[in-house]
Amino acid sequence: MPQKRIFSFGGGKADGNKDMKDLLGGKGAGLAEMSNIGIPVPPGFTITTEVCTEYYRSGKKLPKALEADIRGAMKKTEALVGKKFGDAENPLLVSVRSGARVSMPGMMDTVLNLGLNDQTIEALAKRSGNPRFAWDSYRRFVAMFGDVVLGLKPEKKEDRDPFEVILEKKKHARGVKYDSELPADALRELVSEFKAEIKARTGQGFPDDPFRQLVEAVLAVFRSWENDRAIAYRKMYGYPSSWGTAVNVQSMVFGNMGEDSGTGVAFTRNPATGENEFYGEFLVNAQGEDVVAGTRTPQKIAQLEAKWPAVARQLEETRLKLERHYREMQDIEFTIEQAKLYVLQTRNGKRTGLAAVRIAVEMADAKLINKEEALARIDPEALNHLLRPIFDADRKKEAVKAGKLLAKGLPAGPGAASGKLVFFAEDAAAWHARGEAVILARHETSPEDIRGMAASEGFLTAFGGMTSHAALVARQMGKVAIVGCEAISFDYHARKMKVATEKGERTFAEGEWVSIDGTSGEVLEGRLDTKPSEVVQVLVEKTRAPEDAPVYREFAKIMSWADGARRLKVRANADQPDQATTAIAFGAQGIGLCRTEHMFFGEGKIGPMREMIVAETEADRRAALAKLLPLQREDFRGIFEAMGHRPVTIRTIDPPLHEFLPHDEAGQAELARATGKPLAKIRDRIEELHESNPMLGNRGCRLGIAYPEITEMQTRAILEAACDAAAKGVKVEPEIMIPLVGSKKELDDQAAIVHRVADEVLAARGQKVKYSVGTMIEIPRGALTADEIARTAEFFSFGTNDLTQTTFGLSRDDTGPVLAAYLEKEIYAVDPFVSVDRDGVGQLMRIAVEKGRSSRPGMKMGICGEHGGDPASVVFCHEIGLDYVSCSPYRLPIARLAAAQAALKEASARKAKPARRAGARKASRKMAARKVFRTRR
Ligand code: ADP
Ligand code: MG
Ligand code: MG
Repeated sequence: MPQKRIFSFGGGKADGNKDMKDLLGGKGAGLAEMSNIGIPVPPGFTITTEVCTEYYRSGKKLPKALEADIRGAMKKTEALVGKKFGDAENPLLVSVRSGARVSMPGMMDTVLNLGLNDQTIEALAKRSGNPRFAWDSYRRFVAMFGDVVLGLKPEKKEDRDPFEVILEKKKHARGVKYDSELPADALRELVSEFKAEIKARTGQGFPDDPFRQLVEAVLAVFRSWENDRAIAYRKMYGYPSSWGTAVNVQSMVFGNMGEDSGTGVAFTRNPATGENEFYGEFLVNAQGEDVVAGTRTPQKIAQLEAKWPAVARQLEETRLKLERHYREMQDIEFTIEQAKLYVLQTRNGKRTGLAAVRIAVEMADAKLINKEEALARIDPEALNHLLRPIFDADRKKEAVKAGKLLAKGLPAGPGAASGKLVFFAEDAAAWHARGEAVILARHETSPEDIRGMAASEGFLTAFGGMTSHAALVARQMGKVAIVGCEAISFDYHARKMKVATEKGERTFAEGEWVSIDGTSGEVLEGRLDTKPSEVVQVLVEKTRAPEDAPVYREFAKIMSWADGARRLKVRANADQPDQATTAIAFGAQGIGLCRTEHMFFGEGKIGPMREMIVAETEADRRAALAKLLPLQREDFRGIFEAMGHRPVTIRTIDPPLHEFLPHDEAGQAELARATGKPLAKIRDRIEELHESNPMLGNRGCRLGIAYPEITEMQTRAILEAACDAAAKGVKVEPEIMIPLVGSKKELDDQAAIVHRVADEVLAARGQKVKYSVGTMIEIPRGALTADEIARTAEFFSFGTNDLTQTTFGLSRDDTGPVLAAYLEKEIYAVDPFVSVDRDGVGQLMRIAVEKGRSSRPGMKMGICGEHGGDPASVVFCHEIGLDYVSCSPYRLPIARLAAAQAALKEASARKAKPARRAGARKASRKMAARKVFRTRR
């Protein structure tokens, strides 16, 4: 059976529904769902994403039968609307809208009012009794068609949209400021001038046949899937190009029909703070993108009530209906045609991390969703937002008093940021690459600015509202942002920003410092110190009581729900007692990685360390190590005391020795003095230690094997500190971890030293302390021989940084240029150093888990690489049955939430009955894939 290419919607029903995003795109699925639940949606139909894929597969050709399908679907729409497409009496006009399965804001363009030509325009003017409206629609259509379908949209920044230029001239000639002030005859002139421009630039006439217009527009939507902006966006978020986009053809409703019409966008809750209020903007007598484009400054939704109480009521009802139905905050587009409301789009609203947490908690508290859903709703990364610094209120007050407050705009992305002003996205990216903090300030931002936006601390725009591009992106990326700051303007050529302040105009050049408060909307000159967020103040600094910290309380609620749901334990990577304390504040249940070498860099420690390294005899080495012993012991004791009963994994020395040595003249001279050796000798020794490939050289357990006295000293320091702590009543249980083990014999060698020294210490102290010896699995051979190694190792911890590096044979310090090209060409979907590569590295991990536990049932296993704080990797660790993940303290909340989501996902997969629904089928396909993977192994 040929697959269904077109899905119709309208008139209170639809062929599709909200679960069909993959096939209908997000927009199409939303339109279908809203039709089904009786929300007023203009009728139309959706051409599926599969048609797009087919189009590309067949060398950019539309499937043969598509035109007939379109004609059929158009008949249905015509019947519902009571107009005919292309009719000279009562013409139906349509919009042609793109829509991929995920929303890609502004990435692909929509054509409105399609179906107009020199005949239908007359009919439209006559039937509406409003020639101005008719010609306004026509000139918009010709311009959009020219831009999107005929490719007249300027590619380069400096170039202007040709239609904009003509429009500007016209407004000037007619002495008006806004489009909406142009009379019918001016709009009519615009239509011919636009057409003439098209003819001049393309050599072709404007297509008159509505059906041709439609087919051309559908093709243009498909083409736009592969335009540069769309590709850049997909790269950025790791979406594959194979998804394709759907096309929605929808009967037009007109917000430009006069003073009782308009268009707007709104969120069912405040997307910046999460407050439960209707939040949005609208413009009277306007169409489509006018609100977002910011040609006129829109009015707030709250002002609707006074203007059009009946419309406000319809909107409020729709808001509640949508939230009750989707049980999620919605972002909607609506149009009011002669006081009647239509909804053109709904989707789950993007929100700041702050809002995400608040909305989830409040919806759960209101029993709109349950706790599990609340947890599933929050992107773990979004929690970063609640930990991000804010300006110190006193400092800011001082700055304001000193006259540094420049302007106020709309607070679109909470948090505080200071940086140097740049005015172009390319500059933001370049400056950031050389280590500068930048604030990107622009009139407005657009999708081609995405990379530069990602590189900025925050953005500041003069234009646009809370639904503008900059605001959307800020919420999505979790950036600090202020938009619609009307007091600023730009001279891009001179690279200057002007600010109209109370005391007159001020000018700021590129590179000058500014500070922006995305919570209050204030723009300040200069660099302003930040201070910890509310959550950090409560948890880490302990300078604020939970009672005065509403954001903290919501955070705490989510965390406690997450802790109730997860199976994975969370530990922190912490090397110092103060880090251990922070880790506990963020919920660490232990330390998964304490890197002992970091201790050697502290004050007074690097000297003896260097002496140890340049020592030529064992006796000299021991003498130097003896100086290090008390220093390390002290650090360990601090950590044990901070961690209390929680387990602490301590790794013996890991990095190549020469990393500790002075590579400058002064440092070498100093070392010569300290050791009483001639400078030349020191130089020789440093030379000798040079390795051409240190990451694969003398490091990890290889050091302890070459210099057993280092392992001895470290074991002594650990056990003595443990005894000290135990004597104070702390129930310690150190886990001593040997790095870079690839064979059982390596570990045997080191474990023997640990046990011997431990026995000595415990005997000397007359104390009993439980400790264990384990290893890191961080090179492929370790994973492949894990059953052997597990005979000695009492636990495993996956060092996925090294495991990734050695599995890929890609040095992690040299990934820059390689990854850039690989991500660009989609050779890697994501950076494997950020997210565990399931197929390769992940397979080794599965092997190690299985083999390790085959020799030592129930063996404790965790992960301590950077991946331990990456949500997707946490999910993977859950799936392969690790006991814990360990990450940096500030990522612990993220790991806790991700671990909870993993557990919930597993539970719901277990519950799901085999396959009727599309979602379930997909899950089972995934499971099948996993089975294949198992047998392959
Ligand atoms: P985007 O994905 O860029 O938001 P849309 O397809 O949603 O593009 O449309 C752009 C604008 O045109 C939106 O404001 C939308 O509400 C409006 N619009 C689209 N189709 C219609 C229609 N049939 N009638 C009235 N307005 C429409
Ligand atoms: Mg839209
Ligand atoms: Mg390592």
